[in-house]
Amino acid sequence: METARIIEVFPSIQGEGIYVGRPHLFVRFWNCNMACHYCDTDYRGPYQEYRSDQLLAEVRDSIQAKGPFHAVSLTGGEPLLWSKFLTGWLPRLKELGQKSYLETNGTLVSPLRELLPWIDIIAMDLKPPSATADREVWSEHDAFLRAAHDAGRKIFVKIVVTSKTEDEEVQQACRLVAAVDAQVPVVLQPVTPWGAVREPPSEQQLSRWFQWAAGALADVRILPQVHRLLGVR
Ligand code: SF4
Repeated sequence: METARIIEVFPSIQGEGIYVGRPHLFVRFWNCNMACHYCDTDYRGPYQEYRSDQLLAEVRDSIQAKGPFHAVSLTGGEPLLWSKFLTGWLPRLKELGQKSYLETNGTLVSPLRELLPWIDIIAMDLKPPSATADREVWSEHDAFLRAAHDAGRKIFVKIVVTSKTEDEEVQQACRLVAAVDAQVPVVLQPVTPWGAVREPPSEQQLSRWFQWAAGALADVRILPQVHRLLGVR
């Protein structure tokens, strides 16, 4: 039987993106396939191994005690690393009448395809090379966004921007989204001065990037992470 390593299950408000402020039940999965400079999550921290029925029972109890929620948010780390577990678990979540919301770094296309039938909303991060100091993942992002869009899922893209984000990266990100569908909402999220990266972009950088993005895309927003502002998880 498939199991998954889960760091925590907790109710809070959605702190990022276009659904900010909605009550969500978060399921935080262990581990990630990237290593972003600004990461503020201990994704290899202590975990508990869950069977499908255990996680379903805990989610059901939380919904009864603290719900209803706008959605159950699969977060991490990178939840798609646990796609084998999720292919069994997500259909059971549907039986509880809850929407599923996937928070993802938008690089694991095959696992996404397996899970698309059971995912309602996708919050896809787009990682320019300056965020990761790793190999470029533009082609993975392109395939991921197309797969989610072609399946008709609600999707928005979030780009965490710092003082080190390069102009060309923002332009390339906007071109990538516009080539799939210019109606896909894009959020520019200034890095929260919390983890290792503490320098958000300047007002001039944000203003310049917003103008470029809004020239190519229909729905562009600059939104901070609100968890830290509100002092909640
Ligand atoms: S993809 Fe997300 S969880 Fe993974 S390292 Fe980057 S910020 Fe952290």
